[in-house]
Amino acid sequence: MNSAPSAVLEDGHRELVDAFESFVRRELVPLAAELPETADQPPADLRAYVRKRSAALGFYAGDYPEELGGSGMPFTAVVLLHHAAGRSGCALAPYALAGSDGPSPLLRHGTPEQIERYLVPLVRGESARCLALTEPHAGSDAFRLTTTAVRTGDGWRISGRKTFVSNADRADIALVVAATDLGEGAGPTGGATAFVIPMDQPGLRIGQRYEGMSGEPLFELMLDGVTVPADAVIGGEEGVGAATALAIDSLSRGRLVVAAMCNGVAEYALRLGVEYAREREAFGARIGTYQHVQEHLVATRAEVEAAKLLTLACARLVDAGTEAPENAALAKLTASETAVRAVDRSLQVHGATGWVRGHPLEFLYRYVRMMTIIEGTSEVQKVIIAKAMGLG
Ligand SMILES: Cc1cc2nc3c(=O)[nH]c(=O)nc-3n(C[C@H](O)[C@H](O)[C@H](O)COP(=O)(O)OP(=O)(O)OC[C@H]3O[C@@H](n4cnc5c(N)ncnc54)[C@H](O)[C@@H]3O)c2cc1C
Repeated sequence: MNSAPSAVLEDGHRELVDAFESFVRRELVPLAAELPETADQPPADLRAYVRKRSAALGFYAGDYPEELGGSGMPFTAVVLLHHAAGRSGCALAPYALAGSDGPSPLLRHGTPEQIERYLVPLVRGESARCLALTEPHAGSDAFRLTTTAVRTGDGWRISGRKTFVSNADRADIALVVAATDLGEGAGPTGGATAFVIPMDQPGLRIGQRYEGMSGEPLFELMLDGVTVPADAVIGGEEGVGAATALAIDSLSRGRLVVAAMCNGVAEYALRLGVEYAREREAFGARIGTYQHVQEHLVATRAEVEAAKLLTLACARLVDAGTEAPENAALAKLTASETAVRAVDRSLQVHGATGWVRGHPLEFLYRYVRMMTIIEGTSEVQKVIIAKAMGLG
């Protein structure tokens, strides 16, 4: 029986988490063992297989309703599964759960036709998407957009340049956010609008490829007068100019999922550190008996347990109907900063062993670094929290 404080909040989902962990052990760990030791990212076809297999078992996109191909599980359960994936240390486990290429909460606001055509295949793991929001001069300040969508009468013409887009090379559709120009010389005065665009749409193409620290590439996406029909606007006519509100509405869950992944990774790093400190000897004793080494591991244990409790409490509030952005910001800030420290400390405990290419900590050190940047940087989370405290 798990006696950690966070186990109190895991109650009720133990069987589901056990079933997921068993799937990871039985099916994914053997597949991951066949990957080359220094391959940072699994090949696209293997990722697609894992996605579909997990969807068939009901884990992938589990919080989506059954009529959309999900399992209708509570959001707290999803958070616990992401935690379990990170904690497993299995390179394929994160791909068994919906992430940046999976069903986007943005599409939950889609028209019935958009939901049927685009969201359902994403929930079933049968397709993949990318989100093109960031621009060269609009990162944290995400809605300072220069990509424009001009109304053309029966549709829209979209032009601009997006950057740092994940999954663009293997996505079937792109969700593109553009400044809305209502036509007839009005200029981009109509707020931001989100579009769903097939990746093979004429005028839409991948530009530069950026190699990321953890082997996950990012892409530039060029839109050279991409012409789309009116029903490409997410949410239909009501969605025109509504992208900021839709995006803000969908951010909380994404941030809590990132927090859960971070907690899992931190717990995995901690486990590796503790195991190593119990075995490795220096100066005639196990290094775990030295207080400087204990400090690394005990501080991590305390921080991880606190981050996990915070994340689970916020997930439970989501299930209770409260999606306060500051809650998600608190959890994401705490969990991502904790995970970066946890991996750093565990690597320190391993000395050169953890620094060598092929060691799990060497990969985690590069992988975890993105967590304080994606889904809003740590500073942006602090801005949100400060505002909620009446300081903004
Ligand atoms: C691995 C990875 C995957 C990504 N995937 C996608 C994707 O799929 N689609 C997509 O659209 N984008 C994606 N991005 C881009 C990501 O959303 C941006 O990197 C992020 O929003 C930060 O923007 P920026 O990098 O331009 O930094 P900037 O906004 O330029 O920030 C630079 C620094 O200034 C700080 N800063 C900015 N504003 C403030 C403020 N008001 N107060 C205090 N500090 C501030 C930031 O915190 C940061 O430290 C991805 C990024 C990474 C690293």
